[in-house]
Amino acid sequence: VVLPFLISREIMQSNQKTLKQRVSFSGIGVHSGLPSAVTLLPAPEDHGVIFINKANHKEKIIVGQVVPEAAMHATVMRSGGWMLSTVEHLVAALVVLGVDNVLIEVEGSEIPILDGSALPFVQGVIDAGIVEQDAIRHYLTPKLALIFDDGKGRSIVIKPAREGLVIDYSAEFSNDLAGKSIMKEAITTDFFMKELAPARTFGHIDQLPFLRQHGLAKGTSLGNSVVIGQELMNDMRMTDECLKHKVLDLIGDLSLLGKPLIGSIKAQKTGHNFNRQVVAHYIEHPDQWELV
Ligand SMILES: [Zn+2]
Repeated sequence: VVLPFLISREIMQSNQKTLKQRVSFSGIGVHSGLPSAVTLLPAPEDHGVIFINKANHKEKIIVGQVVPEAAMHATVMRSGGWMLSTVEHLVAALVVLGVDNVLIEVEGSEIPILDGSALPFVQGVIDAGIVEQDAIRHYLTPKLALIFDDGKGRSIVIKPAREGLVIDYSAEFSNDLAGKSIMKEAITTDFFMKELAPARTFGHIDQLPFLRQHGLAKGTSLGNSVVIGQELMNDMRMTDECLKHKVLDLIGDLSLLGKPLIGSIKAQKTGHNFNRQVVAHYIEHPDQWELV
């Protein structure tokens, strides 16, 4: 007798993957404005995604074991005295391309912003090649629906599933130029590569002086951000680029769970500082989650 449950597990089963060869990216940090570089190296089965500081190999960030820091406008991870900012676009690309095991050696304290999207990471990883390993990949899903709600309109609800990731996202934009604010999609690799990965970081020109006063956005330029002023200061690459970037950022932040997430997510008006609660919940209450 074959139980339906076993059949569905069998359908979803896939193997872990790593890179075929190393690949490097270099540029500047969007917040620090300083040069930075990363090299992605193949890693063995069950290694996971690990960031390591090139200047001090004792400083390591094991993705799935570290809660991101409270921070505005970027996802920041910390190991000892090493703060690593703006990891979200890179980790989003890795999880959606199915790269489970990789060592990421970082020069500097920020992942390079490149063109402001995840597309250069996607292209670089595909060019380097992805190889299948022998071990089975496990996915993460909550045992019961989880609700994160700040009572001020920001919320994330994650419902368990046996396969797939669906995101229903509502953004709040202060300017109509940002475009549509609601999207519901099944996040397939294909959809991510075509629709989400090319979506660039965006911001409002009015906020730039405030951000720079706080040591942020020093590397922001029209080459790496959609800038919104009285009108758009550069052309959007695609319709609803701002909304798509918000979904890309959410996928990146959820990638910090360390295992690919399956489930149905409804998120409203969330940003990095809110999304980090999901990772904190997993690390603090692993018994409320299951690997499938
Ligand atoms: Zn982003």
